[in-house]
Amino acid sequence: MSDVLKLAEKLYENRSLSVDEYEKLIIYRNDECTRYIMAKAGEVRKNIYGNSVFIRGLIEISNICKNNCYYCGIRGGNTNCERYRLTPEEILDCCKDGYASGFRTFVLQGGEDNFFTDDVLCELIGKIKSLFPDCAVTLSLGERSKESYQKLYDAGADRYLLRHETADEVLYSKLHPVGMKLQSRLECLKNLKEIGFQTGCGFMVGAPFQTVSHIAKDLKFIEEFQPHMCGIGPFIPHKDTVFKDEKSGSAELTCYLLSIIRLICPNVLLPSTTALDTVDEKGCEKGILSGANVVMPNLSPENVRGKYNLYNNKKFTGVQSAKDLESLKNRMKKIGFQVLCDRGDVIKISDGK
Ligand code: SAH
Repeated sequence: MSDVLKLAEKLYENRSLSVDEYEKLIIYRNDECTRYIMAKAGEVRKNIYGNSVFIRGLIEISNICKNNCYYCGIRGGNTNCERYRLTPEEILDCCKDGYASGFRTFVLQGGEDNFFTDDVLCELIGKIKSLFPDCAVTLSLGERSKESYQKLYDAGADRYLLRHETADEVLYSKLHPVGMKLQSRLECLKNLKEIGFQTGCGFMVGAPFQTVSHIAKDLKFIEEFQPHMCGIGPFIPHKDTVFKDEKSGSAELTCYLLSIIRLICPNVLLPSTTALDTVDEKGCEKGILSGANVVMPNLSPENVRGKYNLYNNKKFTGVQSAKDLESLKNRMKKIGFQVLCDRGDVIKISDGK
């Protein structure tokens, strides 16, 4: 048996490797090892979640952002970005349409827009939860104080997505302006978990300056942090950033990492991301087949679609009607999966094998 296959088996058995071993598992990957990891990831996921794929309705509430992350198309410093902000009423309308289509989780994502104060958000979350008590609300609105996160949680928000972006301080500082610190990001993640949110971290695959040893550190971080959700997708350049001429991350490596993450955290809610579907026509399917179990179609209204451009050519996988959802269901059915219309919370396990 090859050494890399032995490492894959060890990961499956122990759900843990050293940083050095994660690095080797990536560097020396071959067809045999990829097949093994993918099959085991599928098996582990099936034992916990069956053949279900959860759907989340993504509502991109604002592309106004005070930050200036170097890779991101909606960074505050991008003067070419046509800005918009949805009103609370428009957001509620998206939820109503989404609910009618079958969505039971709404993900409110946006730039760090000062308009969305704790008061504005708490009122909005309260309204969503009272209109749709059987729905989960996920927020993805960047870094806030612990007090703020607590208020949002008390208002009824269930989950929070905050990618750590990279677990390496030096790489973090190459991707973000001075003033943004990995330490603050990690502090936020710790706070979110302590408060009781189902918490999601994650990173981009193939970001500028990223090496395999950085990715190995990300995997170790995920192993130690034990997130409930984990968002990873390939980096894709955006024309109005310093990284405009960089290469996109690969779908192949992203899928391999999805399988590894499934083996590290058997019950994790793992989306097959829009970025993956953007770099590969069959990216969504490939992600699911590698161990992902969540898809997040877009519920943002027609007039703002195309303005939430984090990267070039972002694919619009939207569901504006029950009919669109039907076609997503068919896409999943073709690969042997069933789209489930319920909240899709993380399933607690004692042993996920
Ligand atoms: N403001 C929120 C939401 C950020 S957008 C926050 O800070 O969490 C969601 C994710 O998109 C980011 O966390 C980042 O990992 C990803 N993203 C941003 N620019 C990207 C790019 N050029 N290519 C791929 N993914 C990108």
